[in-house]
Amino acid sequence: MTTQPETMPCRLCGHDVPAGRFCGRCGARLAQERGGGPDWLRVNAFVAAPGESVLQPSLVSSLFPYLPRRSRATFRVGLLLVAALLVLFCVLHWYVPMVAVATFAPLLLFVIYLTDTGVIADLPWRVWALVVAFGIATGVGWTLLTASIVAESYSLGLGTEVPTATLVRDALVIPFGGLLAMQLPTVLVRLTRPPIQESLYGFAIGVLGATVFTVTATMVRLVQEIDAGITLSDQSVTDLLIEAGVRGLTMPLTAATVSGLVGIALWYHRRAGASRIRHLAAVVLILVVAAAAYANVGLVEVLQIATDLQFLVHVALALAAVIALRVGMQVAVLHEPQDPLQPELPILCQGCGHVVPDMAFCPACGVAAHAASRTSRDARRRDRPQPGTELVER
Ligand SMILES: [Zn+2]
Ligand SMILES: [Zn+2]
Repeated sequence: MTTQPETMPCRLCGHDVPAGRFCGRCGARLAQERGGGPDWLRVNAFVAAPGESVLQPSLVSSLFPYLPRRSRATFRVGLLLVAALLVLFCVLHWYVPMVAVATFAPLLLFVIYLTDTGVIADLPWRVWALVVAFGIATGVGWTLLTASIVAESYSLGLGTEVPTATLVRDALVIPFGGLLAMQLPTVLVRLTRPPIQESLYGFAIGVLGATVFTVTATMVRLVQEIDAGITLSDQSVTDLLIEAGVRGLTMPLTAATVSGLVGIALWYHRRAGASRIRHLAAVVLILVVAAAAYANVGLVEVLQIATDLQFLVHVALALAAVIALRVGMQVAVLHEPQDPLQPELPILCQGCGHVVPDMAFCPACGVAAHAASRTSRDARRRDRPQPGTELVER
């Protein structure tokens, strides 16, 4: 026998919900807070990590939203380890190991994340095989298609007068074309109507597709450069560090955020009664911001500003894209249809570790149920805590 939890009316959706800090049905704060921003955004409590603001460019909770709170520290260490390796290889002038780590580490970390959180088991193998196959095919296709253009701009060399048409093409057409080509795996997989209509599953597929695309494109380009006999001049450690930062941090980050947003937009569907125009506007705005960020990256490269300044611009744009991604995730997860509510049954929250009523949002910490994989939700529903456990824990 469970005792009925105390209830109170939600000031946003009007339903009677278990008393707590957050509404279990719509995720709104039950008591209005100063500086909380509009309720449809819930700006100071990110759906995947309510301790963080939506506008805080935290990498781990943005790129790995299904991680339970206790696992985030491990992934933070993983990211730092990759960064330390990159710096070490640059200082030692080990160019090939640096490129290898910068290229493969993001893909490896993401696959570990998918396996660790059980996302990989939630979708049939057919879906993942399609994502990888489409990612490789579009990566090879795009690189071969643009190979002649890239080779031509190499032969111009630095310091020569670049014609305006070439400038526009290199600054806009190639980055935008690459950005569009990178979305093909996600769009194609969506057309096969995969199971599970949740925006964060779209995010996982989008990021995986884009990461496979980027890895393939980098490898094909490297092979072409070796074939063409482009030898590496003695780069200074600073130049190597910047290259490592672009290859290993800002490039994969921009690719993952833009494709993750496209995945979210393709998998999201509206909860009955939610305003359509506002969400459509949010999606369009976010895509425009992300695409502009990507185009800027291209523009910065062509304008040939001093490389260290250029790198800072890259980093700033990548972080802006991460914030756009978080806004997209927040809006989608707050407003998409949720699992059936079972407020009379207890569940262990993976955000705060409390035993709480099984609802769309944790009444104690506000984390979304959808910010955990199906595997994790099913396991916690099969093995519900016994009534009274919470009292013992206290
Ligand atoms: Zn509510
Ligand atoms: Zn919680």
